[in-house]
This record gives sequence, C-alpha cells and structure tokens, in this order.
Amino acid sequence: MTRIVTTIADWRELRVGMQEEIGFVPTMGNLHDGHLSLLKRAKNDNAVTVTSIFVNPTQFNNEEDFKRYPSTLDADIDKLQQLQVDYVFVPTYLELYPDNYEVQVHETLLSQELEGCFRPGHFDGMLTVVLKLFNIIMPKRVYVGEKDYQQFLLIKKMITSFFLPIELIACETVRSKEKLALSSRNSRLNAVQHEKANYFAELLSSSHSSADVVGLLQQIGIRVDYIEEKWGRRLGAIWVDDVRLIDNVKR
Ligand code: AMP
Repeated sequence: MTRIVTTIADWRELRVGMQEEIGFVPTMGNLHDGHLSLLKRAKNDNAVTVTSIFVNPTQFNNEEDFKRYPSTLDADIDKLQQLQVDYVFVPTYLELYPDNYEVQVHETLLSQELEGCFRPGHFDGMLTVVLKLFNIIMPKRVYVGEKDYQQFLLIKKMITSFFLPIELIACETVRSKEKLALSSRNSRLNAVQHEKANYFAELLSSSHSSADVVGLLQQIGIRVDYIEEKWGRRLGAIWVDDVRLIDNVKR
C-alpha cells in the first residue's frame, strides 16, 4: 500500500520512528516509465521508498507551460501502488512556500548557461524546492534522471555546497523505441509533432556536427534553443511548435 502524505507535520511524525535507509525520487507527477525506473532503482537500494508529486510553480518561467502541465494524480497513485512504493508526498503550494518564495536558492555559475539562458529563474525555483523536499523527507539517497543533466549537476553541486548528508544517483534516460526520451510534455505532441521529436532524438545521437544538427532541425521548422557539447555529452533544447523538449546523450 502506498501511503499518501500531504502535510509536513504528518510526514515528520512518520519519519521520527523510521530508522531504515530512505530512497527518495522527487517528481512533478504524470508518471511515465522514466520516473518508474528511478523508483525501481530506489526500491532496490533502500528499505523505504518515498516519492513526491508537486508541480512546482517557481520553476516555470512560462505561465502557459505551468497551466498546461499534465496532472494525473489518480493514475500516478495507481502506478505507485503497483510498484509498491511506500510513501508519496503530495504537498500544496502553501505547505511548501509559507514564505511565498521570498527565500530562494541561487547558484551563480552553472545555472546561468544552457537551460539557464532560455529559462530565467528556472534553476532557482528547482533548487529551492529540491532543498525544501530534502529537508522535509530527510532521505539517505536521492535518484534523478540524466535526462535533465544540468539539473542533476546543479543538485549535486548544492549537496556539496550545503554539506547535505545525501547520496545522489543519476539514472539513465528511458526512451521510446524510436529513441525519444520519455517526458510528460510528449503527451502534448500530435502525430506530426511526435515525428519531429523523434527526429530530434535521432539527430542528437548521430555523427552529424552540432552545427549540422541545428541546420537539419531548422529545415523541418523546429526552433532550436541550443545544441551544445559539454560534460562529455551533447545536449539540446528545441521547440516543436509550442512544446519545448530537452535531451542529451553521451558523446
Ligand atoms: P519531472 O517529473 O519531469 O520533474 O522528473 C522527475 C525526475 O524524473 C527527474 O529526476 C527527471 O530527470 C527524471 N526523468 C524524467 N524523464 C526521464 C526519463 N525519460 N528517463 C529517466 N529519468 C527521467
């Protein structure tokens, strides 16, 4: 049985008696096989598995994107039950932001490039909510996806900078058979848009130069925010009409 916890007070009461190692997977819900792979890994490594579902408004730099973010709580909870995840934390905005986001975590270097250039404030919101969740859940291990590679690096940096007693584990990106990285935003793509997204995934791992990849994507009407090689990977962010997708592959 997956227990649903909605308040910090309720979780703290449960947490007091918990001596076992806790594995934690923070999410924004609309769970797919990518999220489930992190949960399976957490279950494998820890006595207790906890996930959170919270669509964090402070990390959306675009109001429309926030409003349209898919919310599928009942289906998510069914999936968590099937996987036998122990707890899901589902807080409200007020529960997590009693200060109305007046206190923020801001990284000054890594957060300013790539995604940071195109999504101002995004990483501040992400780091702030992640630090809050870490302080509430108090896990031993945290599992994140390589799909959001810059996010993974920033969380790792925050853990080091703030001496958080947490082990961070990055898990490989789960893809469709066409090699498209699974993402909650994929559900907003129609058939034609899906084809374009598949082409993006194919090109990212191809031997074409990054400049050529940009050109080829633009030829089919895709707007490119960036295709860049960094950290031994090739990272990209594109727009298929009004849906923004990111991905990265090892080089
Ligand atoms: P989100 O709900 O999009 O905030 O994602 C929650 C966690 O799942 C993050 O650590 C993501 O990097 C990870 N994640 C999202 N998509 C995938 C995927 N396709 N494969 C592996 N992990 C993923």
